[in-house]
Amino acid sequence: MFRPLIRVFVISLLSYSAFLHAQSHTDVVNHVRGEMSFLAGDALRGRGSATRDEFVAASYVASQFESFGLEKAQIQRVSLPSGATTYNAMGILQGTDPELARQTILLSSHLDHLGARSTPTGELIYHGADDNASGTAAVLELARALAALPQRPRRTILFVCFGSEETGGQGDQYFLAHPPLLLSSIVANLEFEMIGQPDRAVRPRQFWLTGWERSNLGPTLAQHGAPLVADPHPREQFFRRSDNFALAQQGIVAQTVSSYGLGAHYHQPSDDLDHIDFEHLTGAIERMISPVEWLSNTDWKPAWNPGGRP
Ligand SMILES: [Zn+2]
Repeated sequence: MFRPLIRVFVISLLSYSAFLHAQSHTDVVNHVRGEMSFLAGDALRGRGSATRDEFVAASYVASQFESFGLEKAQIQRVSLPSGATTYNAMGILQGTDPELARQTILLSSHLDHLGARSTPTGELIYHGADDNASGTAAVLELARALAALPQRPRRTILFVCFGSEETGGQGDQYFLAHPPLLLSSIVANLEFEMIGQPDRAVRPRQFWLTGWERSNLGPTLAQHGAPLVADPHPREQFFRRSDNFALAQQGIVAQTVSSYGLGAHYHQPSDDLDHIDFEHLTGAIERMISPVEWLSNTDWKPAWNPGGRP
């Protein structure tokens, strides 16, 4: 006789706990707007590679990682031959499964952009809202969501936002030489790059994955609900044009998530907050959360297709 009542009580407790952990759409929208406003706002002056502005961006990302409860949230300082310093921000979500915790999923972006230039009429800021505050917001939101799960992921997740991608990838090269975890433990890398505007070649709130046909990672994530399709611009060779490529050359299944539609704002001062499609950006980030959660918990291991490894 009491059973149905107890069941109702248990269900409501469960849904209450799911409610406590799952973020609402409004939460994600507000977080992404806040992150974008700071990273691509005037105060950071375009996050020039290896500048104090890049350092502030990296400090912000690392402190966000810390506030989500990631372990070893830190900044990696990289001295460059020029005498300047570039900064990678990183944090770790240690896996909970004794076996699978030795495998790492790397979620990454680059946080630098072109900075500010002086012109005869004053300072011109290249805000880099799409390139790549947007990808950095995705890494932050995935970190926030995965760290807030009632059951922490079985695999270890490493979150890294690189410095100095725009000047040739000095941040990720240093990371590869000085990784906080064994590189051989990384079973997949998703790099997020320029996802702030929809690509007309695919649907709104859809991302594409570079090197789609090279591995089984994209199709499998799509089967698990990821808004991912093949890169519609193979001629551009985007697979080779982001931080993922250096990792792929080490054998890691490393690919870039993007929705860059070859638009006119690329590396222009007009790549600013006014030209971000927040519906697209937040909608697609939200749809990535559960497939990445699945990847963090499954035994399934991504692999290169024959001939796909660079
Ligand atoms: Zn760029």
